[in-house]
Amino acid sequence: MATPSMNVGSKTREVVRKVRGQPTSDGAGVQLTRVIGTGALDSFDPFLLLDEFRSDNPNDYLAGFPNHPHRGFETVTYMLAGRMRHGDNQGNEGLLGPGSVQWMTAGRGIVHSEFPEQQEGLMWGLQLWVNLPRKDKMTAPRYQDIQGDRIPEVELGAGARARVLVGTLNGVAGPVTDVATEPVYFDLRLDAGARYDVQLPEGHNVFAYVYLGDAKIGAAGTLIARGELALTSAGARLPVVAGAEGARLIVVGGRPLKEPVARYGPFVMNTEQEIRQAFADYQA
Ligand code: FE
Repeated sequence: MATPSMNVGSKTREVVRKVRGQPTSDGAGVQLTRVIGTGALDSFDPFLLLDEFRSDNPNDYLAGFPNHPHRGFETVTYMLAGRMRHGDNQGNEGLLGPGSVQWMTAGRGIVHSEFPEQQEGLMWGLQLWVNLPRKDKMTAPRYQDIQGDRIPEVELGAGARARVLVGTLNGVAGPVTDVATEPVYFDLRLDAGARYDVQLPEGHNVFAYVYLGDAKIGAAGTLIARGELALTSAGARLPVVAGAEGARLIVVGGRPLKEPVARYGPFVMNTEQEIRQAFADYQA
């Protein structure tokens, strides 16, 4: 909980840093843009990685992400267009349609595959990695697969609306529940020139990532272009004003864990010893 103070509810967030995503490839040669989890921005507690994958060329992604393990954190896949076919070593299978989200708590470990598929020529999505606190790293794996029609869309006034994946916006709660870092994940769509002040938990680490158009963000109205991420200071609200083309962006926040991070590829633990154990368990 936030410490009560005279300022609760009144502080406006500022953009403290702007980061542009970097082209990279992962899995079996899938082309994507990595925004968090690069040399420029290693992580933003509790967020470990953010990828945008967008392509109208199946050769960019058809080979997908064959079987690979995860332990110690959560992967969040949000499909803007196209589908993601998913399967794991426990026999779980799923097909995420356009507009759907999968919140997967890897916990003590899963081995899974992810294969993107286009729809009407386009495959477009975002994958976020969210860390787990020490006490939850070895929890049982859990899936929250939410199809698009279960994600509420909220009208936010003139020219502004949002889909609420997790957390509460304008009194509307998203369908993803019981996540350790108490995250918010809002997908905002603003018409040209529209303004909306996003209400946020004051102490959360919050970023905004613009994936279409551009927007002026924060108290000083910092211009954030398509493909750029804004890290924000603490505060209870984040003003967003869309540019001349309108804007689509995600606003995502989480409670920082402030724990040591030992990270090696698909394993994220607290100590090197736990990473060695993760490798040993995976090989067994
Ligand atoms: Fe994965």
